[in-house]
Amino acid sequence: MPRDLYEVLDVPRNATEDEIKRAFRKLALKYHPDRNSGNKEAEEKFKEINQAYEVLADQKKRQIYDQYGFAGLAGGAGGGPGGEDVFRDFGGFGDFGDVFEDVLEGFFGGGGRRRAGRARKGADLRYNLTITLEQAFTGAEMPVKINKRETCSKCQGARAKAGTAPKVCANCRGTGKTQMVHGFFALSQTCSRCHGEGQVVEHPCPNCRGSGRMEKEVEVRLRIPAGIPSGTTLRVTGAGDAAERGSLAGDLYVAVMVKDDPRFERQGDDLVHEIKLSFPKVSLGCEIEVPSLNGERAKVKIPPGTPNGTLLRIRERGLPRFQGRGRGDLFVRVAITIPKHLTEAQRDLLEKLEQSFEEETGEGFFKRVFGRE
Ligand SMILES: [Zn+2]
Ligand SMILES: [Zn+2]
Repeated sequence: MPRDLYEVLDVPRNATEDEIKRAFRKLALKYHPDRNSGNKEAEEKFKEINQAYEVLADQKKRQIYDQYGFAGLAGGAGGGPGGEDVFRDFGGFGDFGDVFEDVLEGFFGGGGRRRAGRARKGADLRYNLTITLEQAFTGAEMPVKINKRETCSKCQGARAKAGTAPKVCANCRGTGKTQMVHGFFALSQTCSRCHGEGQVVEHPCPNCRGSGRMEKEVEVRLRIPAGIPSGTTLRVTGAGDAAERGSLAGDLYVAVMVKDDPRFERQGDDLVHEIKLSFPKVSLGCEIEVPSLNGERAKVKIPPGTPNGTLLRIRERGLPRFQGRGRGDLFVRVAITIPKHLTEAQRDLLEKLEQSFEEETGEGFFKRVFGRE
């Protein structure tokens, strides 16, 4: 978690815009990389100051920060007005307004007073996770290993070898753009030397070869909410790739698939368990036990003469409702089995039974149980 932004600029929470501006100017001058060449601590401080000022100088962002903290700025806080672009310019030198231009002018002289480098947000990552129906039922917390780009631990993302610092690009004087004159037109192009970054790393960090980031396997703890439907995508804010320079990390999107369970069909929050019963059992009625996802077995009464395909409901033995209160139900579906092979004795019994039905009602046993001959 970054430091409190007011603390970074050393101003009270009720500081006026002017006070914030003055505090920023003072600190930015003190910690500017050109005055602290190779000083890692100053470099970090400078970055931090810029980030704090970017938020506190903007009334809207400041208000979001006051209300929701960093979470609001990162686009959390229940989809508050923060938006993902709030930190887009972190570490860049694009949109600091006149105060910062003044500061830069002091250092680079008239020509190269603005640097163009824009810090891009780190890439979003995707992970496919398969869980069991039990895990969907209880909810789960589990670690997953993902490969992602992390900020280089040697140069802290600065890309330059220890003791050196990136230099302002001489080709574009730090603007990231060069102009080409075509007759009457002046075309603006991305600088070919610094690729629009506005600065050039002359001595790249050997650890990350100047990229500022390293591929690494990291463990991310996922929280799977109870009742999650299969196919849901969860977002873990900030668990994606680290940004190239000072900006926000990307997000991790986890697509959750729930494995089929042979015991249950899932229908939303409800579960259906099919139970196979012989026709004598159904005809006479019985009490059976059915499994449920919490491990307890539930008892169900099958009334005598229950027709094939009947659904019996056991309340609140289904899945927790994903976005709501309570639970779904567990349904028991009665499936009457017909024996394929009969022993001699069974055959005799059935024939006697059939005869007794015909004598009684003129309808055969099968007609009564299954509704067909
Ligand atoms: Zn490095
Ligand atoms: Zn350049």
